[in-house]
Order: sequence, then structure tokens, then C-alpha cells
Amino acid sequence: MLEYQAKSDALQGKIILVTGAGDGIGKTAAITFARHGALVVLLGKTVSKLEAVYDEIEASGGPKPAIVPLDMKGATEQNYKDMAETIAEQFGKLDGLLHNASLLGVLGPFEHMDMGAFNDVMQVNVTAQAMMTKALLPVMKLAEKPSIVFTSSGVGRQGRSYWGAYAISKFATEGMMQVLAHEFDGTHLRVNSINPGATRTSMRANAYPAENPATLKTPADIMPTYLYLMTDDSAEVNGQAFNAQ
Ligand code: NAP
Repeated sequence: MLEYQAKSDALQGKIILVTGAGDGIGKTAAITFARHGALVVLLGKTVSKLEAVYDEIEASGGPKPAIVPLDMKGATEQNYKDMAETIAEQFGKLDGLLHNASLLGVLGPFEHMDMGAFNDVMQVNVTAQAMMTKALLPVMKLAEKPSIVFTSSGVGRQGRSYWGAYAISKFATEGMMQVLAHEFDGTHLRVNSINPGATRTSMRANAYPAENPATLKTPADIMPTYLYLMTDDSAEVNGQAFNAQ
């Protein structure tokens, strides 16, 4: 676990987009970033969940967030371009991008893999993140010390039987992080990845239904790494694969 404590105003003035901000780790990350002063752009599939996060941030006195309802399974390159334009118009820059939304898909033997489900996982976990990053790079470059954070997994660093599309998509995520980090090396933009480790969310419960969730770290427990990568304390860190636990 990273021993990092961010100052309470460490993200003051920053605009940070979080995907999958309505639930699990993304929800806690959005609330945590807002608590440290960031104006968060909440992107997700289920509007009611995003609204609940919005209300929680507003009630706690954080900067008024923005909501982007978007299903990354069906979204087109044009949708991401339009979103980037809106962010540029409204805020003039984007300081942080947390790629957090992911699909677990169907776990099971490779031989039985459903290629429709495979494509859905690749679309949400890889293609959508590539399109979104491509569209947002121009507005991120306008920020002083922009940070892109991808979300990986243990199975994105070492393959494991039965983890099929999800594991393959997380290897692609690490690859995307490395390509971008190399391309922007020596510039003011940095790109890193986080493996959250086993964390108490509905995705984890779906993958391990027999596990007692009480034995797991909560999203709040793993926030130090997320905060570190969004604050200027990590401005010189690029191309690194972090473990939040
Ligand atoms: P989660 O509780 O299932 O939350 C996933 C979030 O992604 C939800 O807010 C969901 O929105 C959103 N999402 C899913 N499909 C989407 C789509 N098509 N378009 C837009 N948003 C979509 O998962 P989590 O456990 O917090 O996972 C967060 C990240 O950590 C993921 O990248 C996951 O792979 C990674 N991770 C988690 C663990 C763990 O133990 N939890 C371990 C390793 C890696 P809706 O709620 O609206 O569907």
C-alpha cells in the first residue's frame, strides 16, 4: 500500500474526468478527487448512479461536478470528439483522465469463449479508451501538468486461465499506457497505470461469488495511489505500472 497523504487542496483548480464514476472504485475516486478540490467530470452508463455521486459531492461542498452519460459499448469516435469539444469550451483544459470503467465479461475456458462477449469487453476496455484518449489529448495538452491513468489488473500483468477477454484487454491497457508514455516522454503529459488489487466492489463479487467481501480492501483504502497519480507530486512519473495494494 502506498503511504501517500495528499494535502486537502492538492487538486484545487484541476478538472478530472473519471469513467465508470457511478459505482465501485470510480465512484470513490470521483468523490475523493472532489474532496481534494478537483472539479470532476463524471462519465458513466447509468445516469441515476452518476446523479447520486453528483449529489454526494455537492452536499459535501465540493466543486460542482459535470455529468457525461455515455455507454462506452456503443459510443463512436464522434461522441468522444463532441465530449472533448464541450470540455474545451466549458473548462479550457483537462488535467486528469482516470480510465476506470471496465467490463468483466464472461470468465471460462478459452475453447468456450463467446466471441460476441469477447468483442464487447475489447470495445469497452480497449477501443473506447483509445478513442477517448485520442479525442481528449488536445484538451489535456492545454493543462499545466496533465495526468492519464489507466486501470489494469493482476491478470493484465500475468495471464491466468479462464480470464479470457478481460485479461487480454488488460494486457492491451498496459500496452496502450506504455505506447502513450513513450510518445509523451519528456513532455508535460504523463501516463501511468494502476492495478487496484482485490477490492470490495460488485465486479469483484461477480468474479469471486464465494468470497467474503469483508476480507477485502475497500475502494477508499486504495485511494492513496489514485491521489498520488493525479496530484503534481507525480508530475515527473511516467510509464509506470503501479499496484494500489
Ligand atoms: P464495478 O464496480 O463493476 O464498476 C465499473 C464501473 O464501470 C461502473 O460504474 C459501470 O457503470 C462502468 N461501466 C461498465 N461498463 C460501462 C460502459 N459500457 N460504459 C460506461 N461505463 C461503464 O467495477 P470496479 O471493481 O469498481 O472496477 C473498476 C476498475 O478496476 C475496472 O477497470 C476493473 O477492471 C479494475 N479492477 C478491479 C478490481 C477489483 O477487485 N474490484 C481488481 C482489479 C482491477 P454502471 O454501474 O452504470 O454499469
